[in-house]
Amino acid sequence: MAHDELRAKVATACRVLGARQLVDGVLGHVSARAGEGMLTRCRGPRERGVARTEPADVRLADLAEGQHLEPGGGWDVPKEWPIHAALYQARPEVGAVVHAHPRAAVICSLAGLAPRPVIGSYNMPALRMALDGVPTYPRAILISRLELAREMLDAMGASRVCVLYGHGITAAGETVEQATVAALNLTELLSLTVTLAQLAASPPPLPAADLAELPDLGSRLNDQLTWQSLVAELGSEPGA
Ligand SMILES: [Zn+2]
Repeated sequence: MAHDELRAKVATACRVLGARQLVDGVLGHVSARAGEGMLTRCRGPRERGVARTEPADVRLADLAEGQHLEPGGGWDVPKEWPIHAALYQARPEVGAVVHAHPRAAVICSLAGLAPRPVIGSYNMPALRMALDGVPTYPRAILISRLELAREMLDAMGASRVCVLYGHGITAAGETVEQATVAALNLTELLSLTVTLAQLAASPPPLPAADLAELPDLGSRLNDQLTWQSLVAELGSEPGA
């Protein structure tokens, strides 16, 4: 995919995350693998928050040091660029990464709440995340060095998502669409987990017979359709 097309898609993903309250103010970023580097949401001279990201805010950086690979123009690569770079270095299938700070991730991790497979057709991708188990990176630090990002990768294992203790989430996908939708599904799962804990409710896991009735729709088509509806919700705002 051409860099400019990918740049616009990363910007759109930022706006979707903003519309769904996964990011607040200038915190959080999205990237896409681009050749030997990554197109990353940077903080720029016209900063208006992640929810109002424009394609010009998405800049090409290298994977080894997070340095600009095109004229910087006053944009700063996020301090947590290693979250993105480490995933691209270690996992060739990963084409896009979302890092966000949803409140439910912070509450779940601080309270030691692990999502359980209790929902069904309400959100099947979220159910599958709960069945697979959602890993947690146990340190609440700024992941500003590759060695720390590699610790996160160790905690993440083969999962597409990871909760960062007292911090937020990381979600990866083959495409920007997949990573974005995975971040939204994870956040929904964590929000439900928080609400159930507040209600002191402990529903039983979904029975095996009901699980067997739930089709695996395949992530690629499902994520693409979900993405299209999320973009449509943004309306005709710039970058959408
Ligand atoms: Zn962060």
